[in-house]
Amino acid sequence: MEKDRQSGIRPAPRAKLRWWLPVLILVVLLAATLSLLSLSSSHESSQTQEQLITDTLWVKQAIQYQLDHNAETLQLLARDIAAESLAPPVVRARLAAFLRNTREAVWVAYLDPDLAPRLAVDRDGGDLAADATRLPDDEQALVRSALERDRSSSRAFFGTPYPSAAGPAMNLYAPVTVTGTAADRHGGMLVGVYSLGRILEENVPWWFAQDHEVMLADLGESVRTTRAPAGPGRNVYSHQTVLELAGTSLVLRTNSLKGAPSWIPNALRGSIAVLMALLLLSLYALWRDIKRRVQAEEALLDEAAFRKAVGDSVVTGLRARDLAGRVTYVNPAFCKMVGYAEDELVGKLPPMAYWAPEHTREYEQRMAKVFAGTVSEHAFETVFQRAGGERFPVMIYEAPLRDAHGKQTGWMSSIVDVSEQKQAEENMRMQQERLQNVARLTTMGEIASSMAHELNQPLAAITSYVTGTLNMMQDGGASGAEIRATLEKANLQAQRAGQVIRRVHDYVRKREPQRVSLSIHDLVQDCLPLVELQARKTGVQVITSAAPDLPRVMGDPVLLEQVLLNLTRNAIEAMATADREHRRLEIGAHAEGGDTLRIDVRDYGAGIAEDLRDKLFSAFFTTKAEGMGMGLSICRSIVEAHGGRLWFDSFDDGTAFCIVLPCVVNAERS
Ligand code: ADP
Repeated sequence: MEKDRQSGIRPAPRAKLRWWLPVLILVVLLAATLSLLSLSSSHESSQTQEQLITDTLWVKQAIQYQLDHNAETLQLLARDIAAESLAPPVVRARLAAFLRNTREAVWVAYLDPDLAPRLAVDRDGGDLAADATRLPDDEQALVRSALERDRSSSRAFFGTPYPSAAGPAMNLYAPVTVTGTAADRHGGMLVGVYSLGRILEENVPWWFAQDHEVMLADLGESVRTTRAPAGPGRNVYSHQTVLELAGTSLVLRTNSLKGAPSWIPNALRGSIAVLMALLLLSLYALWRDIKRRVQAEEALLDEAAFRKAVGDSVVTGLRARDLAGRVTYVNPAFCKMVGYAEDELVGKLPPMAYWAPEHTREYEQRMAKVFAGTVSEHAFETVFQRAGGERFPVMIYEAPLRDAHGKQTGWMSSIVDVSEQKQAEENMRMQQERLQNVARLTTMGEIASSMAHELNQPLAAITSYVTGTLNMMQDGGASGAEIRATLEKANLQAQRAGQVIRRVHDYVRKREPQRVSLSIHDLVQDCLPLVELQARKTGVQVITSAAPDLPRVMGDPVLLEQVLLNLTRNAIEAMATADREHRRLEIGAHAEGGDTLRIDVRDYGAGIAEDLRDKLFSAFFTTKAEGMGMGLSICRSIVEAHGGRLWFDSFDDGTAFCIVLPCVVNAERS
C-alpha cells in the first residue's frame, strides 16, 4: 500500500507524458486534417483553374477559327472581285451571303480605293447609306497606311477594335488587289464590321457563358466587351489569352463565377473545428475527472494510512474476517495478544491457532451465530490461547464490515484481553469480602459482650440444674424421672447456648459467597436472636412483621443477614438516648408489585441530621466514637450486588432504612 501511495502522489514523468500525449496526438491530427483539407481544396482549385484554361483555350480556338475562316472567305471574295471584275449585283449578292454566314458581322461593304462605299449591305440584306458606312478616322488612317505599305497584298486583316455607336466593333479588311502587268493596282477594299459583342455571343457556348464572365478587348483593354449573363466573375479562377489575328491581337479573358472557398470545405473545416473543440472539451472533462479521481484516491490512501496508524496504535486487538470466516486483517495489538505474527494469521480459515482446544465447540457455535447475523451487539466473553499455550480471558465485540455500497463483506471484531481486569475484579472481590468479614467481626465484637451476658443465663441455669441433680443424687431421694426431667432442662439450656454460639460462629466464619433461594421470613427469624441480644442490652423492643408466604429471593443468606444486623444495630444505637418507652425497633417485610420485595428497618431514635444525609453511605463516614463508618457502605454494595436498592426515609421521630430486592420468578416460589 505504501508503495502504491508513493507512486500515486509523486507526479511521475510518465504521468505527465500520459497527459501530453493525447494533446500532442490531437494537435498532430488537427494539423494533418487541416493540411489535408487545404491540399484537397488547392487540388480542387488547380483542377478548376486547369479546366478554365482548357475551356478558355477552346473558346479562343473557336473564335480564332471563326475569324480566320471569315477572313479567308472575305479574302476569297476580294480576290474574285479583283480577278473577275464581278458586276455590282453579284458582288452585292456575295456580300449578302457573306453576311448571312458571318453572324458576328454587323454590316459589310465594298469600298473604293478612296474608302468611299460602292456597296454596303446590312444584316437585313438592305443597302446602307454612305454616311452609315463611314469608317472612323483612325480606321481610315490604318487602312491607308496598310495599303501604302503593301499595295500588292491581298491578305485580309483586322483593324484594331474601336468604340462605335452600336458597341465595340472591329473591322475585317480584304483588299481588292487587281494584279496587272505594269503595277499592282488598288481596286478598293472589302470591309466587314464585326461587333465584339456578337463575336462573343456567337462563339462562346452557352454552357461556358453561364458559369463565366468572358471579355474580349484590344491589347490595351481600352475597348472591350463583356459577356456575363450570370453576373460578374469572382476573380478567383480567371485566365487571359491573346487571340492572334491577322493584323491585330485581341485579349480574351475568362473569369469564373465560382468562388474559391466552396461551402463543402468550409463545412468540413467547421465540423472539424467543432469536433476538435468537442474533443478538447471531452479531454478536459476527462482530465478533470481523472484529477478528481486521483485526489479521491490520494484522500483514500491518506484515510487508509490514517486508519492503519489507528489500527496499529490501539491496544485493543482488531481482527477482520470475510464472509467465509477467513481472517483478512489483524492489527499488531492482536498479534501481540495471541503471540502469532500477522502472516501466521491472515488468510487462515478456522480452526485458528489461538483457539483453546477445549473451547472449540463454543467458538464454532459463536461463529455460526455471527455469520448467521443472529449475534447480539453485546460483548462475548471467552478464552483464547497464546502461542505458548497460556489461556487468557477476552471480551469480543463484533460489528459487520461493509463495503462502499453498504454490502456486508465480513465482520470486524475488537478483542480486549481482560486478564488484568479479571484479576483486578478478583482482587476487588476479595478485598470486599475481607471488608465484609472485618465488618462482621466488628459487629461481632460489639455483640460479644451481649453474648457473654446472654450465655450467662443458660450456663447459670445449667449449673444450677446440674448442682440440683447432683444434690438429689447425693440425697438419694430423687427418682430417675426427676433426675431425667432436670437433666433435660439442663440439656435444653445447653442447646440454647449452643444455638447462640453456632449462629455467631456461622456468622463470623470465613466462607465463600453463595447464592440460594431463600425466605426473608426465615432470614429475619435467623438473625432475630442476635438482634435481640443487642436490643435487650439497651431495653429496645423488637417487633417483626414478616409473613412466611412472602416470595423468595435469590441471595447469600449470610451477607443479607449481615445487612439486617448492621441496620438493626445502627437503629438500636440511634435509640440509645431516646426515652425508654419509645425504644422500639420494627422489622417489616412485604411484597411489592409481585417482582420485588421490600424490607424496612424502622427506629424511633435520634434521626439523621440534614447535612449528614448525603454522606451517610460513604465509606468511613461515622458519627460514633468507635465507629468504622463502613457498615452502610458495605450494606449498599451487598444489596446492589443482589440487584436491589438500599436507601433511608427520615421521619420526625426516627428513621427507616429500606431494602428492595428482586424476587425469584413465580415458579421458583416455595
Ligand atoms: P458506623 O455504624 O460504624 O458509624 P455506618 O456506616 O453503619 O457506620 O453508619 C454511619 C453513620 O450513619 C452512623 O455513624 C450514624 O451517624 C448514621 N446512622 C446509621 N443508621 C442510623 C439510624 N438508624 N439513625 C440515625 N443515624 C444513623
